[in-house]
Amino acid sequence: MNILLTGGAGYIGSHTAVVLTQANHEVVLLDNFYNSHKRVLGQLQKILGKNLHCVDGDVRNTTLITKILQDCKIDAVIHFAGLKAVGESVQNPIEYYANNVQGAISLLEAMKFANVKTLLFSSSATVYGDPQYLPIDENHPTGPTNPYGKSKLHIEEMLKDLTNSDNEWKIACLRYFNPVGAHESGLIGENPAGIPNNLLPYIAQVAGGMRSDLAVFGDDYPTIDGTGIRDYIHVMDLAEGHVKALEFLEVNNGWHALNLGTGRGYSVFEVIEAFEKASARKVPYHVVSRRLGDVSECYATPQKAKVVMSWSATRSLHEMCLSAWDFQRLNSVAAP
Ligand code: NAD
Ligand code: UDP
Repeated sequence: MNILLTGGAGYIGSHTAVVLTQANHEVVLLDNFYNSHKRVLGQLQKILGKNLHCVDGDVRNTTLITKILQDCKIDAVIHFAGLKAVGESVQNPIEYYANNVQGAISLLEAMKFANVKTLLFSSSATVYGDPQYLPIDENHPTGPTNPYGKSKLHIEEMLKDLTNSDNEWKIACLRYFNPVGAHESGLIGENPAGIPNNLLPYIAQVAGGMRSDLAVFGDDYPTIDGTGIRDYIHVMDLAEGHVKALEFLEVNNGWHALNLGTGRGYSVFEVIEAFEKASARKVPYHVVSRRLGDVSECYATPQKAKVVMSWSATRSLHEMCLSAWDFQRLNSVAAP
């Protein structure tokens, strides 16, 4: 298949580009490099032994997207492009709706015009809001608590309306839990600009000596050791989930929501310990008060993805930490 990856130079997009190319799909990347670097393209070339077609542009440019869909004879789109920082979305909600919701509308207009009706959408566990029960399945009520999550849910709803209006559309909303880790080569990985918001990249920078210690946000949660529990999933397992989801859509029309997680939660202290083991470095930390908006525990049941598309995550927390550490070692740049 010919597949357009919006946001394809980003963290999850670049890993998915590798897996799709190795599964003999032709990928075209579109990215405005707002949160990624052009050097990713050179790294992808090293991994794959060939150059990938990448367009430097914005997903909100409907004319450009239409042209790519037509010129490259695109069969399916994976829509990764968007802004993803929860805290930033609270500060700048309009920017988040403009980029995420407007970006999705622009893409859908172009897809409709070019008659491309197969789409994977990068959604998030954030759409569920505070867990009402665990593990979270796809029928769990939605109720995002921040503009980022709301923008994802608005898009999901829009996509549902679209499939209701025209049954030729094939759309899967992939609700990612906590993607971490890197490609085994250490050439691509998560490289956040500025101070990392997320646990794994922060720990990697502490282990790498770029930051002095980790602030653990609360040790008074009702969990095994008092720290927050999340469902961390190796980015390569996640990338493989996209290949499976495309195969699923080949024979399934309509709108589908699918959790991509492991089904197993780890605490912050467990992650620190696993990272120390994988890196053979100490990760100094100190406990501070809870981060506003954090929940105690969040993990998926990935049962639906297993049943409908024969996908399950297979990589361990150790492999997640090992690959994140390799990427950190090979790519460390001075912290701002
Ligand atoms: P990322 O920031 O690394 O990748 C997103 C890419 O999209 C970046 O390369 C960025 O430059 C590009 N982009 C942003 N706005 C654009 C626009 N208007 N036009 C063109 N390109 C644009 O993020 P990621 O971690 O790879 O996430 C990919 C998707 O998965 C996002 O939609 C995100 O919301 C979703 N998601 C991520 C996580 C996570 O923890 N990483 C969890 C759940 C969902
Ligand atoms: N966390 C932490 N210190 C950090 C970043 C995160 O203790 O510097 C904790 C956070 O409170 C949560 C877990 O690590 O319990 C995962 O946080 P992350 O931001 O990576 O994912 P999310 O909370 O968005 O699921």
